[in-house]
Amino acid sequence: MGDIGEHYRNFEHTENYDAVVIGSGIGGLGVAALLASEAGKRVLVLERHTIAGGFTHTFNRKGWEWDTGLHYVGGVQEPNSFLRQIFDHVTQSRLKWQPTGDIVDRIVVGDREFEYLAGQKQWRERMLADFPSEDTAINRFLELVGDTRKQSMSFFGEKAVPAPIALIFGWLMRRGFLKHSDRKLGDVLDTLTDDQMLKAVLSAQYGDHGMPPAQASFAMHAMVFAHYLEGAAYPIGGSAAIAEAISPTIEAAGGRIVVGAEVVEILTAGNRVTGVRMADGRDILCPLVISDVGIPNTAGRLLREGTPGRLQLLEAANAAGPSVGHCCLHIGLEKTAEELKLPMANLWVYPGPDHDANLRHFEADPSAPLPLVFVSFPSAKDPDFERRHPGRATIEVTTFAPYERFSRWQDQPAGRRDEAYVEMKKDLSSRLLQTLYYHVPQVKGEVAFHDLSTPLTTRWFCNYEHGEVYGLNHGPARFRQRALKPKTEIKGLWLTGQDACTAGIAGALLGGVLSASAILGRNLLKTIS
Ligand SMILES: Cc1cc2nc3c(=O)[nH]c(=O)nc-3n(C[C@H](O)[C@H](O)[C@H](O)COP(=O)(O)OP(=O)(O)OC[C@H]3O[C@@H](n4cnc5c(N)ncnc54)[C@H](O)[C@@H]3O)c2cc1C
Repeated sequence: MGDIGEHYRNFEHTENYDAVVIGSGIGGLGVAALLASEAGKRVLVLERHTIAGGFTHTFNRKGWEWDTGLHYVGGVQEPNSFLRQIFDHVTQSRLKWQPTGDIVDRIVVGDREFEYLAGQKQWRERMLADFPSEDTAINRFLELVGDTRKQSMSFFGEKAVPAPIALIFGWLMRRGFLKHSDRKLGDVLDTLTDDQMLKAVLSAQYGDHGMPPAQASFAMHAMVFAHYLEGAAYPIGGSAAIAEAISPTIEAAGGRIVVGAEVVEILTAGNRVTGVRMADGRDILCPLVISDVGIPNTAGRLLREGTPGRLQLLEAANAAGPSVGHCCLHIGLEKTAEELKLPMANLWVYPGPDHDANLRHFEADPSAPLPLVFVSFPSAKDPDFERRHPGRATIEVTTFAPYERFSRWQDQPAGRRDEAYVEMKKDLSSRLLQTLYYHVPQVKGEVAFHDLSTPLTTRWFCNYEHGEVYGLNHGPARFRQRALKPKTEIKGLWLTGQDACTAGIAGALLGGVLSASAILGRNLLKTIS
């Protein structure tokens, strides 16, 4: 961890690169690896943070190690799955995955508990056992999910096809998916059932895309649900293993990853990109620049006013809006996951079945019950954890938190924020711990360390202005934005990552595949799988 690439202060820019990628998230590393492996391109990846990987980087405190943005990835437990093949391709099979078992998610709503089992058949049977009179609703939900998934292939594929093809066939490629993405999750659930508890359970993974049923696009929820339906896996070695496994692919073609390397401007001449300007004023010239830093950063911070296409990108970002912020309590324990009997399944805890009302109450009143608490047990999922951290375990406890609640401290330096911030963190930490102890009682008295990250932490290490957990929001308006795709109006400037496709490790990596496909004029989705 932390030793991928070189630091900018040691970086001598003496060579010419074929492409510059801004940001080393999975979308940035993915596109860099594909340009390297598919076209032999020498790619320079510039990362602002001192550790590469974006939301896949891990950090250490007092001998424990935590992930920052990965708890589980769907589909990759199957060696022949589409996503696994992409991962195997960009990592040249260096990355290994640990399946997370038969129970993917445990869901607690009020005083009732449910399980999301791996496998459509198993999931359906368990749901029917919990809701015996709701077979029509459950079957119809699965049908709609299946159709959304099918339609998503051509919808996202269209983002990478050459402009003349998109002009003629684009509407046809988008139409089937838009039918689902234009609808809100809550509206679809209302047509399926009157059972509020079933609605709560079917929308329980809303935390994976960040929007409650009354706001989320049905299509986004359906894609997330489908993503985990057959099971999930965790990268062996922790989420940092992803960047470790991809970087040799980039370096083998002569590319480099440089950390501590903040880009402050994308340089253009007319409507053509010419390179990037670094925070120390140095210019790195290159006719091909790919941005993984999200659209608000790319258009709002890195492109000069008046650059062609900039306003169009900003309009698309505004139409979608920023996703919510989050707080995560990083917990360290001085026993192993096995000794503590920590499960691999994630735990979702909701105070009651109306997710929208729960969130509304919390937004209006910070002392209202936490609308969602997500508990993940990374050391239980990672068979390599014990080797790296003998006798230890970790837990991550997450909740959503509106950025506005934290913005008043944004200009105070991290680690030196005032007493009110410290108190607020203490209060939230203690509420998250209470929830943990209630649902995982065996860890009471075992917590040796904990530290809370807030949306200001996300803002600091990943540069999202509002500490967004998932980049742009995933409401219906997002999927109507034609600018959210790899190609921009500026020749030589391309987008990758979650804003070019969707949030999630899979979504952001697919953003990289679409971006590389569009740049190379080849459908890599077909050739890889
Ligand atoms: C708490 C949390 C939990 C999550 N859990 C899961 C999960 O279990 N499963 C799943 O599939 N997904 C999960 N996600 C979502 C997933 O992590 C993200 O959608 C995905 O990693 C985003 O990748 P990206 O490449 O788009 O961007 P990022 O990972 O955000 O990378 C962007 C990079 O750009 C860098 N950067 C920004 N500005 C500059 C600049 N000016 N110059 C240079 N570099 C810059 C940033 O520092 C950052 O490293 C989670 C996210 C969070 C936050």
